[in-house]
Amino acid sequence: MNRKINECIKPNIALCGKKIWLDKNLPHNSEVSFDLEGDYANSSVRNFAYESFAESTRIRSDLPEIMAAETKRVMKSFFDSVRNVNSEKTTSAARLILTDAVFTFNEITVCIDRLLCRADGLIEICEIKAATHVKDSFIKDLSFKYAVLSLMGYTVKRVYIRYINGAYVKQGKIDANKFFFYKDVTESAKVYSSDMLGIIKESLCMAEEPFCNIGYGCLSPHKCNYWGYCTGELPDDNVFNIAGLSMDRKFELYDSGIISFEDIEKNRSVSPRQMEQVSSVLHLSAPKINKKELVKFLDCLTFPLYFLDFETFQSAIPRFDGVSPFTQIPFQYSLHCMVEKNGEILHKEFLADYGKDPRRELAERLVKDIPDNVCVVAYNMVFEKNVIRKLALLFKDLYDPLMKIHDNIKDLMIPFQKHYYYDRKMNGSYSIKAVLPALFPDDPELDYKNLNLIHNGIEAMISYQQSENADNNTREEIRSSLLKYCGLDTYAMVKIWQKLNDVVN
Ligand code: SF4
Repeated sequence: MNRKINECIKPNIALCGKKIWLDKNLPHNSEVSFDLEGDYANSSVRNFAYESFAESTRIRSDLPEIMAAETKRVMKSFFDSVRNVNSEKTTSAARLILTDAVFTFNEITVCIDRLLCRADGLIEICEIKAATHVKDSFIKDLSFKYAVLSLMGYTVKRVYIRYINGAYVKQGKIDANKFFFYKDVTESAKVYSSDMLGIIKESLCMAEEPFCNIGYGCLSPHKCNYWGYCTGELPDDNVFNIAGLSMDRKFELYDSGIISFEDIEKNRSVSPRQMEQVSSVLHLSAPKINKKELVKFLDCLTFPLYFLDFETFQSAIPRFDGVSPFTQIPFQYSLHCMVEKNGEILHKEFLADYGKDPRRELAERLVKDIPDNVCVVAYNMVFEKNVIRKLALLFKDLYDPLMKIHDNIKDLMIPFQKHYYYDRKMNGSYSIKAVLPALFPDDPELDYKNLNLIHNGIEAMISYQQSENADNNTREEIRSSLLKYCGLDTYAMVKIWQKLNDVVN
């Protein structure tokens, strides 16, 4: 089962009773919000743990109700057998370990990554996390499960979290005993769950939908599935759509009644740049263009121009020797090149085969493809510079040419970040995914939605990793989709650069 029930934990309240009530009474209002990257990482770490600690019985099905029935059956059979042994006065060290155990209680479904049933009738529960630190939200998630299991009549003796040793460096086969850390969170879980028990019981009994105002906990650590339902009456343009405003500030304004863009404009309660977003929407403003600054910026980009973009992946389970969990590995780049203004646009690209460390080959190709001392253009250059700096530190013989590329990078994001060019269709964002459709509305060639399979960096990262176990046809499809996706990133940069030149001329 890929998705589990996401409990919405609210700060200070620890749990949203309204969500429990909605799950029971109006579940059709729930919207599934995927965290592709987090889900993929968590599921790969869980699978690795299950394979490494193989003494467990895995509950398998795509349907929670079947998993719940199977969990119940296997546990009953275990406890019955232990009871029979104990009644014959024989001591038993028997135990049962289940992975992906599912429990349902009054429309509440919880999934336990690792459940230990003990011969004395008690149980222990464990959550496996693709993280190198234990966050409070993990403990709250587990506390909710603890509370539900208690309401079902189980006695939970121990609650713990298995998480990743971030300093682990792979050398040969990964040693799961050194790769994972454990944290016993039983005492904290007891405290949280005792507060939750009352809320759960009360919410399940309520005839009417409980009132619960939205708060920070609706969006953190993950967006509640009922966010759309609970904010349905807010105006379309509201404080939560302001780009670059912290979540704390958004709720501060919301709680003080400053909600619509009109309220924000009246109170001038956000930064000047955020005010630009608000007033451009309210007054349907034409794009704002600062020609002087744009000319200055464009003058810094000298021919030949090399437009560069990398794709990388960060695997929770290190894939190669010498690599730690979550090490960023570049595996692909696209490069569009213009030798002179209005000249031919050339394209070069690199995409490593999956299965071996791609960094050396990628670094060698990069220094061959980009000549010394040319102007390299990236969009949000912090990312590209970081990738190149790490390659340079890893391969000392390539340090000089790589650092020349690094030092010559210019950032095409700046004109949009600094609002030298601002269009209200960007909704306050300066990411290339917001800028491109604003500059080129209705251009199918520049629309990421028209790509096959891969439409963003997260999908690229996951698809590349999945290609390892894919059949030949799927692997080819992934490869061709990756090339098209990354190619569009740099082609889009060329088009944006051309558009800015048109604007100033
Ligand atoms: S959006 Fe917030 S208030 Fe609404 S159900 Fe979810 S956590 Fe509760």
